Amino acid sequence: GVSLRKIWKRFGTTEVIRGVDLDIEDGEFVVLVGPSGCGKSTLLNLVAGLEGLSSGDIFIGAERVNDVPPRDRNIAMVFQSYALYPTKSVHRNMTFGLETRRVPHEEQERVVKEFAELLHIDHLLERKPGQLSGGQRQRVAMGRALVRQPEVFLFDEPLSNLDAKLRIEMRTEIRRLHKQFGKTTIYVTHDQIEAMTLASRIAVMDNGTIRQVGTPDEIYEAPVDLFVASFMGSPP
Ligand code: ATP
Ligand code: MG
Repeated sequence: GVSLRKIWKRFGTTEVIRGVDLDIEDGEFVVLVGPSGCGKSTLLNLVAGLEGLSSGDIFIGAERVNDVPPRDRNIAMVFQSYALYPTKSVHRNMTFGLETRRVPHEEQERVVKEFAELLHIDHLLERKPGQLSGGQRQRVAMGRALVRQPEVFLFDEPLSNLDAKLRIEMRTEIRRLHKQFGKTTIYVTHDQIEAMTLASRIAVMDNGTIRQVGTPDEIYEAPVDLFVASFMGSPP
């Protein structure tokens, strides 16, 4: 799992994450919601190690990772913008992270084939990202994360660029993958239905703090305050 202990993040004098505590069990799917600018992406970046903490501790499993560089954190992140290498083929995009970690060639081929088939992109492996649709690019970004077979998945609004039909399709796909592999996941979305259908627990953020953490039912039926109610809960 992942544990956040009293984490703070400041950019200059601006406090963006303000004393967040959160314990995520192995295999849990936690969805982070909250208004734009409340600190969701920053929180993921801290867990991934792409930003450094101002104070507090982050544990992945039993290991305190504050000083562990991103590539050694056993985490894979899927961004809203995909962040694929534009000049590399789909295949290379998927294997690149494996090469730097010295995964044997045959093993690379095996996992790329497995996950490309799973994501229905096995016919696209020789193409460049520019020759793909948005939905296909999103699948490649997912594939690149999956082949690393990390302990923890971080998703930052991975479906927000897709049309409604693809979004529903990918949501179903993500559910299936989580059922199959059961990896600890932190997932940011603005989409209330996505949050309700994917989450084992939802964390509602506001201005750098977590207002409430609970199952979708708890958040919906028993919001702790008006902010949570207006954001996620049933209308009073
Ligand atoms: P959105 O839903 O719009 O993606 P968010 O919840 O992901 O928003 P963050 O991107 O985490 O929000 O940003 C939180 C706050 O931190 C914002 O006010 C943002 O302007 C500020 N911020 C983010 N990165 C930096 C930075 N490198 N330097 C200064 N301020 C930053
Ligand atoms: Mg964000």
